[in-house]
Amino acid sequence: MYWQKDIETMDRAELEALQLAKLKKLVDYCHDNVPFYREKLDASGITGDKIKCLSDIQYLPLTTKEDIRNNYPFGMFARPMKDIVRIHASSGTTGKPTVVGYTQNDLEMWSNCVSRLVVAAGASADDIVQIAFGYGLFTGALGLHYGLENIGATVVPTSSGNTEKHLMLMKDFGTTVLVSTPSYALYMAEIARDIGLDPRKDLKVRLGLLGSEGCTLEMRDKIEEAWGMFATDNYGMSELVGPGVSGECTYRCGLHFAEDHFFPEIIDSNTLESKGEGELGELVITTLSKEGFPLIRYRTKDITRLNYEKCACGRTHARMDKTVGRSDDMIKIKGVNVFPTQIESVLVSIPEVGPHYQIVLKTVRHTTDFEVNIELLDASLLTKYSELEGLQKKIAHKMQTVLGLNPKINLVEPKSLERFAGKAKRVIDLREK
Ligand SMILES: [Zn+2]
Repeated sequence: MYWQKDIETMDRAELEALQLAKLKKLVDYCHDNVPFYREKLDASGITGDKIKCLSDIQYLPLTTKEDIRNNYPFGMFARPMKDIVRIHASSGTTGKPTVVGYTQNDLEMWSNCVSRLVVAAGASADDIVQIAFGYGLFTGALGLHYGLENIGATVVPTSSGNTEKHLMLMKDFGTTVLVSTPSYALYMAEIARDIGLDPRKDLKVRLGLLGSEGCTLEMRDKIEEAWGMFATDNYGMSELVGPGVSGECTYRCGLHFAEDHFFPEIIDSNTLESKGEGELGELVITTLSKEGFPLIRYRTKDITRLNYEKCACGRTHARMDKTVGRSDDMIKIKGVNVFPTQIESVLVSIPEVGPHYQIVLKTVRHTTDFEVNIELLDASLLTKYSELEGLQKKIAHKMQTVLGLNPKINLVEPKSLERFAGKAKRVIDLREK
């Protein structure tokens, strides 16, 4: 099923011609309307006319979150405030948030992008959808809300919190689709069982539209098992538009971009050079259609790879892999890039251990000593030496398969590793520089 079939299945040569025409226009539009870009483009001497092919995009300046913050709140808007009909902002963990503005056309484009991904995931006008994202400045809830209404689904804007009420409504309304973060979907299933509801039998939820935080395959399996549902992942960020940038179809072999609106590239985070199809690197996105808040080559900091092959679903738009982590979180060990999310994906598949762990790196005889401390769920295992050793071996083997490295595994007592209120500090790097 498609939402905008002509566009979603467009011949690639035709799609690329459309992208090129839009890119040329965008460069001049940004130059004429955003002082930040005027300065950068004047310095590089590039105008829309000089762009001859899509790969010329590499000569355009990159944009970072820092640039947006430096122009807080409305400095990078390309339209006067009378044309801006909506404001969203990202939750800044430090300092000011990044603020984005939408024109009426931007909102329409956004809704259609979300409609595309929910239809690709299997939602339809027959569905009753509960949205468990927090409403407000955050783009997740309203993004899905308008995209789902747009396809004719019945939207129930329950918002986050009050899980028991969520479940009551779900049962009474016969809700069929849940929009939620992966972790909240799991939490809801637990609460359901606590209050005597079996999500598989007593509720009708058949589809989960998960988003707003990463979801490993193992976590998705757990969610599907707990709910008896099919779940897809989607990707976006408020700076770009919100959800709707890319999303999985029912084949779940990558997230399709809305490539007529968002042009993806992969770069090396250190050298900033462009990387080819299939190569892992940082995702960079140029917004091809946005009027209120256009962005040229925005560095998402998310690490992934691109695939331009036509999908089994018939869509021709490029797909990205699930992100493997943030470039900020990447650690290099013996020449191999390691992301904490890879370690988490191993731990979630081992029932004897919890989600708390710590990576310790030291220099021993000029090479890196790589250890992972992992909390056991049951302290009594520490006295059963042979079981403990077996478990250590099992984890080490899985780590080797996923990371291509063989860390030393230390199993430690429950609740013995430090807890963090904010972002957890997972890596203790004691290596000699
Ligand atoms: Zn597909």
